[in-house]
Formats: sequence, C-alpha cells, structure tokens
Amino acid sequence: MNYIIFDLEWNQCCGGRDMENPRMPFEIIEIGAVKLDKKFNIIDTYSSIIKPKLYKKLQPHIKTILNYDESTLRKGRPFDMVYREFIKWCGQDDYIFGTWGSMDLNILQTNMDYYYLKPMPVPLKFYNVQQIYADMYDEDGKIVKLKKAVEHLKIEVEEDKPFHSAVNDAYYTGLVLKAMSPRDLADRYCYDIYNNPKDKKDEIISHHKHYLEHISREYHCKEEAISDIDLMAPICYRCGKKLAPKVKWFANTPNSYTCIGKCWHHGLVSGKIRFKQSRNNNIFVIKTMVPTDKKGLEAMKERQDELRIRRQTKRHN
Ligand SMILES: [Zn+2]
Repeated sequence: MNYIIFDLEWNQCCGGRDMENPRMPFEIIEIGAVKLDKKFNIIDTYSSIIKPKLYKKLQPHIKTILNYDESTLRKGRPFDMVYREFIKWCGQDDYIFGTWGSMDLNILQTNMDYYYLKPMPVPLKFYNVQQIYADMYDEDGKIVKLKKAVEHLKIEVEEDKPFHSAVNDAYYTGLVLKAMSPRDLADRYCYDIYNNPKDKKDEIISHHKHYLEHISREYHCKEEAISDIDLMAPICYRCGKKLAPKVKWFANTPNSYTCIGKCWHHGLVSGKIRFKQSRNNNIFVIKTMVPTDKKGLEAMKERQDELRIRRQTKRHN
C-alpha cells in the first residue's frame, strides 16, 4: 500500500465574509503531493497550480506567505481538471491519505462539492501526521507547525524547497513521516468527519490499542445527544465492558462532557464527548475513551469542584 501525502494552498475572499461564497469560503489554488512506498520512501511527486474561479485576487495575508502571485495563478488550470488528474495520479492500487493537520481534507471536499464532483468514499480513513508527531514527541500531545517538526527532527530544509508551497510542504510532511517511521502507524489512523455519519447504522466505532473512538449519528440538539443511552454509556477502551462510575458525565466546557469510570480488568478509564456541528446544522458527537490513573481522577474531581463553586458564586451574585 502507498501513502499519498498531500498539501493544499488556498485563497479566500479579499472582501471579507459578507462578499465570500458560502459554498466555497476557501478556494484551492495549488495541490501538491508525494507518493510514499510502505517504507516511506518518496516514489513520485505531484504538483499543480489551479486557476481560481471565485477569488482571483490573493488575500493580502496569503500573498505574503506564498512564493508566487496572481500572474502564476492565471496560468493555472481549472480545479475539476486538476482534481481528476490528481486522483488518477494517486493510483489504482490501495492507498491512504496523509496530511499535516485535518484541514486539508475538509477544504478539498468543500471545493469538490462546489464543483459537484463525486464525493470521497465514506468512512474515510487517513493519517494526521501533525497529530502523530504530537502524540510521539509532545508530552501533552500539543500540535506544532510543520517547520518546527522539520527542525526538531533535523531534516534538511533545501534552498529550492521553501515552505508554503503545497508540493514542498507535502515533501517535508513525507520526510517527517519517514523520520518518525512509527512502527504502529497502522493503529494511528483517524477518520475524516467532513461527511459525518447521519444514521445509527453509519456510526463509526474504532478500536485503537490505547483508546476507543466513537463518531455518532446526527442529533437535532445537544440534549437529544446526551439522552442517548447507548452513546453515553461509559465503556472500557479495551474490552468494551461498562465501567463502574467514579465521576459521572459533567459539562467540562461549553462543547464537551467528561467522565471517569473503572473497568475491573483494565483500571481507570476517562471518557470525553465533544459536540460538533454538521454541515446541515445538526449536532454529532465524537466520544473517546482513554486509560487514565489516580492522578487523572483527582484532577477531574478538582475540576468538577471548581466548576461547581464557580456556578454557586454566579448564583449568589
Ligand atoms: Zn476493560
């Protein structure tokens, strides 16, 4: 199987939000990619400039980052033509996408929808190389910019390959993946949520070695989601058995709930649900269950107390 590591550059409307087309707020102007074999060696490169249809003038901030200007874009080709060529280049063989962050797949599909192109298969697995790097090298799993990862891994930055060109960023992302060469890469996949599950039968439950992820169907509102007993059941990330509650679900932030429970075989497990808005303004939920320890339990109890006190003071004032 090959890895297709791709990167996009996009432009947005110079006239701000009021002037932009809501069907395509970010317009792709460049697709760049490298194809890696199973040992992460680069075996092919793809690069194309896209002639914009909506936003022909580069937004000032984007213009300062890019290594080219509008005159280059005018020589580009239409998106649908480039996209079809790119997908053909990806190959007939089995491949999986990899990107630095999760934005690129989202923007790509928005642009595909704008041109009414055939959607990507669902569910769509990919590797978020930025997150894999964070999980492997940052204690708190915090994400960093590509340049920082390249410097940290002592990857040579070539003079004729500056950052912020799609093909070069894809090239460095490929080199980062090779430098990391995670043995358990197969377990580090994630799912794209642009086309989130609509119904119960489409829900995604993925079992990883160290966590469990559940991407739910759509609900009309948060209340409907949290009243779904199946969704809210705190279960063990490893054996799937129901946990004995230690801290029941509580709203940790406006958009997330957390809980902790205990599995008699696998110890303390922490749960989190995050509410996401689907493109048709419904709600769906990403639930994760991960192992934790006594320290994690104490921290969560403290957090719960802190929120309780804050609520009480608010009421008294
Ligand atoms: Zn268990």
